[in-house]
Amino acid sequence: MKFSEVVGQQSVKRALIFSKKENRIPHALLFVGPEGCGKLGLAVAFSQYINCENPQEVESCGICPSCLKYQKLVHPDLHFVFPLMKVNENTLVCNEFMKEWREMLNSNIYFTPLQWYSHIGRENKQGTIYAEEAGEIIKKLNLKTFEAEYKCMLIWLPEKMNITAANKLLKILEEPPSKTVFILIAEETEQMLSTLLSRCQLVKIPPIKDSEMHEALSNQYQVSEHDLNNAVLLSEGNIIKAFKLLENNSDNQQFFESFKNAMRLAFSFNVVEIIKWTNEIAGFSKEKQKDFLMYMLKVTRDNFLITEGAENKVVHRPEEAEFSIKFHKYINERNVFTIVKELESAYNHLERNGNPKIVLLDMMLSIALIIKS
Ligand SMILES: [Zn+2]
Repeated sequence: MKFSEVVGQQSVKRALIFSKKENRIPHALLFVGPEGCGKLGLAVAFSQYINCENPQEVESCGICPSCLKYQKLVHPDLHFVFPLMKVNENTLVCNEFMKEWREMLNSNIYFTPLQWYSHIGRENKQGTIYAEEAGEIIKKLNLKTFEAEYKCMLIWLPEKMNITAANKLLKILEEPPSKTVFILIAEETEQMLSTLLSRCQLVKIPPIKDSEMHEALSNQYQVSEHDLNNAVLLSEGNIIKAFKLLENNSDNQQFFESFKNAMRLAFSFNVVEIIKWTNEIAGFSKEKQKDFLMYMLKVTRDNFLITEGAENKVVHRPEEAEFSIKFHKYINERNVFTIVKELESAYNHLERNGNPKIVLLDMMLSIALIIKS
């Protein structure tokens, strides 16, 4: 992974590169930063840089044998430790999950602990770094360096170490093996042993700057400037949050079209088309069906507010605002409560595993009758 693959963080990158140029690479670094700032990516890019056989001014070369292995995360002197969860008290160590870890990191360098747990099929559990892992770390460090200048041991979320693991790691850091760089990558340090903290050189990673976030997002998403600015503003430097906002955004576009269709069909009471519509929505994933109903609820309430003259309380997108100019008068004090009740009841039925085709058809027929009356 090259530095350029990590969004922004120019001053952190500069300081890291400087430490290599000055030959003052600490044997233990602690990267601390909030979710979605890129600290894991920076740790991998830095490890690649210090082992690059032909490092450039501000970047690793990307083509030497070391870089090629680093790009695929398969370099034999690059080691990872990350939280896992035991099943039936069986010992688990990171080596057993390297395939999943590489898949995760290769597809996206920005992810939350929950996204990692969900990737290994354990979304409802809390991860831990167990004492056995410390034994693994010692084993790996005792191996002779295969081909790199530095062995790099990257520990993602050291705050998840149990106390035995943390104490064992402390012992290793007290007598650090030569030519080994530990990079601990933490979101919060309150739960970490203070003795462990004092062994590491702290590198604070701030949230991503708005201008850098804007540039990165505009390269990845084809969305309007309005939606882009909105995502930058709401994400507060957390790129994972910005991704989610923009992905929901493409759902929102689809939801808006489906809502418009639903209202058109309700007015025309075209049952054949209504059935087609419900089948289409029933084809969404369960979560998306529920998100769509929440969206319908929001738009219904927004239009009622506009009818009541409270448009200043409504936050909507330009195309939604345009649609509401004509539509809002159909949502009024005579029907808003029954429509909302129908939507809420459909939502509850879906949550209790009701058949979506039936639930949505019932809902649509009721809403059509309410709107026409
Ligand atoms: Zn290189």
